[in-house]
Amino acid sequence: MLTIRGLQVRYGAITALRGVDLDIKQGEIVALLGANGAGKSTIARSIAGLLPFQGDITYQGEKLVPNAAEKNLRRGIALVPEGRGILARMTVYENLLMGIYTRSDKSEAMADVAKMLERFPILGKRRDGLASLLSGGEQQMLAIGRALLSKPKLLLLDEPSLGLAPLMTDTLFKMIAQFRDEGLTVLLVEQKARQTLKIVDRAYLLETGRVVTSGTAQALIDDPTVSDAFLGGT
Ligand code: ATP
Repeated sequence: MLTIRGLQVRYGAITALRGVDLDIKQGEIVALLGANGAGKSTIARSIAGLLPFQGDITYQGEKLVPNAAEKNLRRGIALVPEGRGILARMTVYENLLMGIYTRSDKSEAMADVAKMLERFPILGKRRDGLASLLSGGEQQMLAIGRALLSKPKLLLLDEPSLGLAPLMTDTLFKMIAQFRDEGLTVLLVEQKARQTLKIVDRAYLLETGRVVTSGTAQALIDDPTVSDAFLGGT
Protein backbone atom coordinates (compact mmCIF):
# COMPACT_ATOMS: atom_id res chain seq x y z
CA MET A 1 0.00 0.00 0.00
CA LEU A 2 2.85 2.37 0.86
CA THR A 3 6.48 2.27 -0.20
CA ILE A 4 9.10 4.72 0.99
CA ARG A 5 12.51 4.85 -0.64
CA GLY A 6 15.41 7.08 0.30
CA LEU A 7 13.33 9.52 2.33
CA GLN A 8 15.33 12.54 3.42
CA VAL A 9 14.01 15.49 5.39
CA ARG A 10 15.84 18.54 6.65
CA TYR A 11 14.65 21.24 8.99
CA GLY A 12 17.02 24.07 8.08
CA ALA A 13 20.46 22.92 9.22
CA ILE A 14 19.08 19.83 10.98
CA THR A 15 18.87 16.59 9.00
CA ALA A 16 15.96 14.65 10.51
CA LEU A 17 15.85 11.70 8.07
CA ARG A 18 18.90 10.33 6.28
CA GLY A 19 17.50 7.96 3.67
CA VAL A 20 14.69 5.86 5.08
CA ASP A 21 13.19 2.83 3.30
CA LEU A 22 9.91 1.49 4.61
CA ASP A 23 7.00 -0.63 3.37
CA ILE A 24 3.47 -0.97 4.65
CA LYS A 25 1.20 -3.62 3.21
CA GLN A 26 -2.57 -3.39 3.06
CA GLY A 27 -4.15 -4.39 6.38
CA GLU A 28 -0.96 -4.31 8.43
CA ILE A 29 -0.27 -2.51 11.67
CA VAL A 30 3.30 -1.28 11.47
CA ALA A 31 5.15 0.53 14.24
CA LEU A 32 7.88 3.13 14.16
CA LEU A 33 9.89 2.86 17.34
CA GLY A 34 12.81 4.85 18.65
CA ALA A 35 13.91 7.48 21.11
CA ASN A 36 12.95 11.14 21.14
CA GLY A 37 14.23 12.88 18.06
CA ALA A 38 14.93 9.69 16.08
CA GLY A 39 12.72 10.93 13.23
CA LYS A 40 9.50 8.98 13.77
CA SER A 41 7.14 11.96 13.63
CA THR A 42 8.97 13.30 10.60
CA ILE A 43 8.17 10.09 8.69
CA ALA A 44 4.49 10.28 9.67
CA ARG A 45 4.30 13.97 8.78
CA SER A 46 6.00 13.38 5.42
CA ILE A 47 3.46 10.67 4.51
CA ALA A 48 0.61 12.96 5.57
CA GLY A 49 1.94 15.63 3.21
CA LEU A 50 2.87 18.16 5.85
CA LEU A 51 6.55 18.52 4.98
CA PRO A 52 8.88 19.05 2.06
CA PHE A 53 10.92 15.88 1.52
CA GLN A 54 13.35 14.23 -0.85
CA GLY A 55 13.03 10.64 -1.96
CA ASP A 56 9.97 8.66 -3.00
CA ILE A 57 6.76 7.92 -1.16
CA THR A 58 4.43 5.77 -3.23
CA TYR A 59 0.88 5.26 -2.01
CA GLN A 60 -1.42 2.87 -3.83
CA GLY A 61 0.86 2.94 -6.84
CA GLU A 62 1.09 6.72 -7.10
CA LYS A 63 3.92 8.99 -5.96
CA LEU A 64 2.99 11.46 -3.25
CA VAL A 65 4.08 15.02 -3.70
CA PRO A 66 5.42 16.90 -0.68
CA ASN A 67 3.21 19.40 1.10
CA ALA A 68 -0.08 18.04 -0.22
CA ALA A 69 -1.88 17.35 3.06
CA GLU A 70 -5.44 17.90 1.89
CA LYS A 71 -4.94 15.88 -1.28
CA ASN A 72 -3.46 13.01 0.75
CA LEU A 73 -6.35 13.16 3.20
CA ARG A 74 -8.82 12.93 0.33
CA ARG A 75 -6.94 9.90 -0.94
CA GLY A 76 -7.33 8.16 2.41
CA ILE A 77 -4.31 9.10 4.51
CA ALA A 78 -5.32 10.50 7.92
CA LEU A 79 -2.90 11.65 10.60
CA VAL A 80 -3.64 11.89 14.31
CA PRO A 81 -0.81 14.23 15.25
CA GLU A 82 1.31 14.15 18.36
CA GLY A 83 -0.52 16.29 20.91
CA ARG A 84 -3.82 15.27 19.26
CA GLY A 85 -4.60 18.52 17.45
CA ILE A 86 -7.93 18.94 19.19
CA LEU A 87 -9.62 22.32 18.83
CA ALA A 88 -9.94 23.12 22.51
CA ARG A 89 -12.45 25.96 22.21
CA MET A 90 -14.82 23.93 20.11
CA THR A 91 -17.24 21.31 21.36
CA VAL A 92 -16.71 17.58 21.01
CA TYR A 93 -19.34 17.51 18.28
CA GLU A 94 -17.75 20.40 16.36
CA ASN A 95 -14.40 18.66 16.52
CA LEU A 96 -15.93 15.53 15.03
CA LEU A 97 -17.53 17.58 12.25
CA MET A 98 -14.03 18.69 11.24
CA GLY A 99 -13.41 15.05 10.37
CA ILE A 100 -15.95 15.02 7.53
CA TYR A 101 -15.02 18.22 5.74
CA THR A 102 -13.31 16.37 2.88
CA ARG A 103 -16.27 14.05 2.33
CA SER A 104 -18.78 14.63 -0.43
CA ASP A 105 -21.36 12.12 0.91
CA LYS A 106 -22.57 14.60 3.51
CA SER A 107 -25.72 12.84 4.71
CA GLU A 108 -23.88 9.54 5.17
CA ALA A 109 -21.06 11.46 6.84
CA MET A 110 -23.46 13.06 9.32
CA ALA A 111 -24.83 9.62 10.13
CA ASP A 112 -21.26 8.46 10.71
CA VAL A 113 -20.72 11.32 13.18
CA ALA A 114 -23.76 10.12 15.12
CA LYS A 115 -22.38 6.56 15.05
CA MET A 116 -19.02 7.79 16.31
CA LEU A 117 -20.75 9.33 19.34
CA GLU A 118 -22.21 5.89 20.05
CA ARG A 119 -18.94 4.09 19.42
CA PHE A 120 -17.22 6.33 21.99
CA PRO A 121 -19.97 6.78 24.62
CA ILE A 122 -17.82 9.19 26.61
CA LEU A 123 -17.80 11.51 23.59
CA GLY A 124 -21.55 11.10 23.26
CA LYS A 125 -22.01 12.11 26.87
CA ARG A 126 -19.82 15.18 26.37
CA ARG A 127 -21.14 15.97 22.91
CA ASP A 128 -21.83 19.65 23.56
CA GLY A 129 -19.07 20.25 26.07
CA LEU A 130 -15.81 21.97 25.21
CA ALA A 131 -13.11 19.60 23.99
CA SER A 132 -10.68 21.23 26.42
CA LEU A 133 -12.68 19.76 29.31
CA LEU A 134 -11.99 16.18 28.25
CA SER A 135 -9.26 14.13 29.91
CA GLY A 136 -6.14 13.30 27.92
CA GLY A 137 -7.44 9.84 27.07
CA GLU A 138 -10.81 11.21 25.99
CA GLN A 139 -9.12 13.81 23.81
CA GLN A 140 -7.12 11.05 22.16
CA MET A 141 -10.35 9.15 21.45
CA LEU A 142 -11.79 12.36 19.98
CA ALA A 143 -8.73 12.86 17.78
CA ILE A 144 -8.93 9.26 16.56
CA GLY A 145 -12.70 9.46 16.07
CA ARG A 146 -12.27 12.63 14.02
CA ALA A 147 -9.60 10.96 11.87
CA LEU A 148 -11.77 7.87 11.32
CA LEU A 149 -14.60 10.08 10.10
CA SER A 150 -12.54 11.00 7.04
CA LYS A 151 -12.84 7.29 6.13
CA PRO A 152 -9.11 6.69 5.92
CA LYS A 153 -7.44 3.69 4.36
CA LEU A 154 -4.14 4.46 6.06
CA LEU A 155 -4.26 5.81 9.60
CA LEU A 156 -1.12 7.45 10.98
CA LEU A 157 -1.06 7.64 14.77
CA ASP A 158 1.72 9.78 16.25
CA GLU A 159 2.46 8.77 19.85
CA PRO A 160 -1.17 8.33 20.84
CA SER A 161 -0.24 7.07 24.31
CA LEU A 162 1.80 10.13 25.20
CA GLY A 163 0.77 11.44 28.62
CA LEU A 164 -1.92 8.82 29.17
CA ALA A 165 -2.35 6.79 32.35
CA PRO A 166 -1.38 3.09 32.02
CA LEU A 167 -4.98 1.87 32.08
CA MET A 168 -5.97 4.33 29.37
CA THR A 169 -2.95 3.28 27.33
CA ASP A 170 -4.09 -0.37 27.55
CA THR A 171 -7.57 0.59 26.34
CA LEU A 172 -6.11 2.61 23.50
CA PHE A 173 -3.79 -0.18 22.36
CA LYS A 174 -6.65 -2.70 22.38
CA MET A 175 -8.64 -0.32 20.23
CA ILE A 176 -5.77 0.10 17.75
CA ALA A 177 -5.37 -3.68 17.51
CA GLN A 178 -9.04 -3.91 16.51
CA PHE A 179 -8.59 -1.51 13.61
CA ARG A 180 -7.09 -4.43 11.70
CA ASP A 181 -10.48 -6.16 11.75
CA GLU A 182 -12.04 -3.08 10.17
CA GLY A 183 -9.68 -3.34 7.22
CA LEU A 184 -7.66 -0.30 8.21
CA THR A 185 -3.92 -0.10 7.66
CA VAL A 186 -2.11 1.61 10.53
CA LEU A 187 1.27 3.23 11.05
CA LEU A 188 1.81 3.63 14.79
CA VAL A 189 4.56 5.92 16.08
CA GLU A 190 5.41 4.99 19.64
CA GLN A 191 8.09 5.08 22.30
CA LYS A 192 6.50 2.35 24.40
CA ALA A 193 8.27 -0.36 22.43
CA ARG A 194 7.46 -3.47 24.42
CA GLN A 195 3.75 -2.75 24.64
CA THR A 196 3.61 -1.71 20.99
CA LEU A 197 5.26 -4.93 19.76
CA LYS A 198 2.41 -6.89 21.37
CA ILE A 199 -0.16 -5.44 18.98
CA VAL A 200 1.66 -4.69 15.72
CA ASP A 201 2.60 -7.00 12.83
CA ARG A 202 5.97 -5.44 12.08
CA ALA A 203 8.13 -2.60 13.32
CA TYR A 204 11.00 -0.37 12.28
CA LEU A 205 13.49 0.82 14.86
CA LEU A 206 14.88 4.27 14.18
CA GLU A 207 17.96 6.01 15.43
CA THR A 208 19.06 9.51 14.41
CA GLY A 209 17.16 9.54 11.17
CA ARG A 210 17.98 6.00 10.02
CA VAL A 211 16.28 2.62 10.25
CA VAL A 212 18.60 0.44 12.34
CA THR A 213 16.48 -2.73 12.39
CA SER A 214 13.11 -3.90 11.15
CA GLY A 215 11.16 -7.12 11.20
CA THR A 216 8.10 -8.86 12.49
CA ALA A 217 7.12 -7.98 16.04
CA GLN A 218 8.01 -11.48 17.20
CA ALA A 219 11.41 -11.45 15.47
CA LEU A 220 12.26 -8.15 17.12
CA ILE A 221 11.16 -9.39 20.55
CA ASP A 222 13.32 -12.51 20.07
CA ASP A 223 16.34 -10.68 18.64
CA PRO A 224 19.10 -10.42 21.23
CA THR A 225 20.66 -7.47 19.40
CA VAL A 226 17.45 -5.50 19.88
CA SER A 227 18.83 -4.52 23.19
CA ASP A 228 17.27 -3.39 26.42
CA ALA A 229 17.95 0.11 25.19
CA PHE A 230 14.99 -0.35 22.84
CA LEU A 231 12.80 -2.65 24.87
CA GLY A 232 13.77 -1.67 28.39
CA GLY A 233 11.10 -0.67 30.79
CA THR A 234 8.03 -0.33 28.61
P1 ATP B 1 9.54 12.74 19.22
O1 ATP B 1 9.14 11.54 19.95
O2 ATP B 1 10.20 13.76 20.05
O3 ATP B 1 8.46 13.31 18.34
P2 ATP B 1 10.65 11.72 16.81
O4 ATP B 1 11.38 10.44 16.71
O5 ATP B 1 9.27 11.74 16.33
O6 ATP B 1 10.71 12.24 18.28
P3 ATP B 1 11.10 13.94 15.10
O7 ATP B 1 10.09 14.78 15.81
O8 ATP B 1 10.75 13.38 13.78
O9 ATP B 1 11.54 12.77 16.05
O10 ATP B 1 12.44 14.80 15.00
C1 ATP B 1 13.59 14.38 14.29
C2 ATP B 1 14.65 15.46 14.37
O11 ATP B 1 14.19 16.64 13.71
C3 ATP B 1 15.02 15.88 15.77
O12 ATP B 1 16.40 16.16 15.80
C4 ATP B 1 14.21 17.12 15.98
O13 ATP B 1 14.84 17.97 16.91
C5 ATP B 1 14.19 17.75 14.61
N1 ATP B 1 12.97 18.52 14.36
C6 ATP B 1 11.70 18.04 14.38
N2 ATP B 1 10.82 19.02 14.08
C7 ATP B 1 11.56 20.14 13.84
C8 ATP B 1 11.24 21.48 13.48
N3 ATP B 1 9.99 21.86 13.28
N4 ATP B 1 12.27 22.35 13.36
C9 ATP B 1 13.55 21.97 13.55
N5 ATP B 1 13.91 20.72 13.89
C10 ATP B 1 12.94 19.82 14.04
